[in-house]
Amino acid sequence: MLTGPIPDLIDHRKLANQQREFNGSVPVSSLPRLGEALADDSGDVHLEIAFSRSELGQTRITGTVSASVSLVCQKCLNPYTQSLKSSLQVVVVPGEDALAALDDDEDGFICGEDHLSLVELLEDELLLSVPMIPRHPAACPGAEVQNKADPGEASREDDIGGDTYRPFAGLADAFKKADKDQT
Ligand SMILES: [Zn+2]
Repeated sequence: MLTGPIPDLIDHRKLANQQREFNGSVPVSSLPRLGEALADDSGDVHLEIAFSRSELGQTRITGTVSASVSLVCQKCLNPYTQSLKSSLQVVVVPGEDALAALDDDEDGFICGEDHLSLVELLEDELLLSVPMIPRHPAACPGAEVQNKADPGEASREDDIGGDTYRPFAGLADAFKKADKDQT
């Protein structure tokens, strides 16, 4: 069981050789880049990750990271709790060439050394699951008022470019769906 602050630098090759698994919780505040993207850094991140070696001898890190975090709804500007969940399928690669050679269903994490920053890796994973435009998932208490008063900042910004297509708006949902499909 892992609790408290996670070690930043870990010897990923050693952990892969030992096929180590980590299950536990760490405070959101121990992941500073994630904390900056949230309304506050309260709450915990739950990890279930396993280290192994790929066919090519690279370190593979698989598992799930999840957290309940505080975000500000962009419709009503009130804080709400958002569940984040990310499935990890990460291969540690030495550089861009090895990154390009990975399978489509694998993510690469570039690290040319024995020690990698677990904090950075977890931040990257969880930041991807933070919605681009946070909103109350179900009933937003301020939605009706806000809609009548103001069409919203986001739509105005889109109009400047003359293009309302937002390719990343549904990304977080797509990730969540992918998670469900896998399990
Ligand atoms: Zn709201």
